[in-house]
Amino acid sequence: MSEEMPGFETLAVHAGQEADKATGAVVTPIHLATTYAQDAVGEHRGFEYSRTGNPTRAALETAVAALERARFAVAFSSGMAAADGVLRSLVPGDHVVMGNDAYGGTWRLIARVFGASGISHTSVNLADLGGLPRAMTDETKLVWLETPSNPLLGIVDVEAVSAIAHDAGALVVVDNTFATPYLQRPLSLGADIVVHSSTKYLGGHSDVVGGVAVTDDEEIASSLHFIQNAAGAVPSPFDCYLVLRGMKTLAVRMDRQCRNASVIAEFLAAHRSVSHVNYPGLVSHPGHELASRQMRDFGAMVSFTLRGGESQALAVAGKTELFTLAESLGAVESLVEQPARMTHLSAAGSPLEVDPALLRLSVGLENVDDLIDDLSRALA
Ligand code: PLP
Repeated sequence: MSEEMPGFETLAVHAGQEADKATGAVVTPIHLATTYAQDAVGEHRGFEYSRTGNPTRAALETAVAALERARFAVAFSSGMAAADGVLRSLVPGDHVVMGNDAYGGTWRLIARVFGASGISHTSVNLADLGGLPRAMTDETKLVWLETPSNPLLGIVDVEAVSAIAHDAGALVVVDNTFATPYLQRPLSLGADIVVHSSTKYLGGHSDVVGGVAVTDDEEIASSLHFIQNAAGAVPSPFDCYLVLRGMKTLAVRMDRQCRNASVIAEFLAAHRSVSHVNYPGLVSHPGHELASRQMRDFGAMVSFTLRGGESQALAVAGKTELFTLAESLGAVESLVEQPARMTHLSAAGSPLEVDPALLRLSVGLENVDDLIDDLSRALA
């Protein structure tokens, strides 16, 4: 290969996935061994015990790091385990600033699990940069953000937030689950750590739960590796294989899913039953300009509010046929959900509580005319 870094699609197929040296197999083997023979005490060939390190997991970590153009990736058994691994660097007395629009489970982890261990947090609208300095204290160690956010598709300026946070000595963590490294690379915009729920677009087929934390900083990577081994929330070799397989088609899936989502967002914006559509690809979206600069495309998640309130939202979610009513997102099949009672139920009563009239769509790879027909019927 040339000196220059290969393109995203090439890395997705090849990074960390050279043909197996022993057999020539072109697909990364699923290494099930839990333990590895040592030539002498302490002399091993790179692997000793599978919680500490596993060749299939190492291939996945190399591939994700390559896609984020980062030096290190550390894989976990779920997106929440990756978030937990990052947050464990905090000590009692530390403070976190997080966006006020984020996955409910992330809020629950920060507010209820780490909150119970003496780590405080403030949630703030990070799309409005003026709010961030006011939310930060001398104890703020992390600023945690999603862009696009879940479920309102808010866009946060990663470069500007990173500059403010770094001035105050805090690290920036970006949950890049919605955008994927194909659409956005937060480390290149100044963020310190990227986390993914690889359950979503990286896996891409609704058949694996996983997470990964990515960084360029050796010290952060070493602390993440320490937590990965010490706390042990590691993905199984089979799960690593599934995410690796999914990532090979990430670019082509994203291209088509973004295109489908943009057609659907326009359709919804023109529908009389819909009062508001959240999709950064719409020129009316307040973050449209920023998203155009920060992202390659606008993603495949769309959310919208029904004029008829919660009862209409529930009725529509119950009537679609191609859009399956289910939690999760980012896979080949289209999904619909009501965040207030589903993915964001854990944030009820908090500043992150979601309007019950909001529905969230994860737009898949089906024919877009069929998807529009499905929504048309459900909205009628
Ligand atoms: N981050 C975002 C943006 C999510 O939507 C989710 C789950 O829906 C998570 C993190 C948590 O990931 P996991 O379900 O793999 O633990």
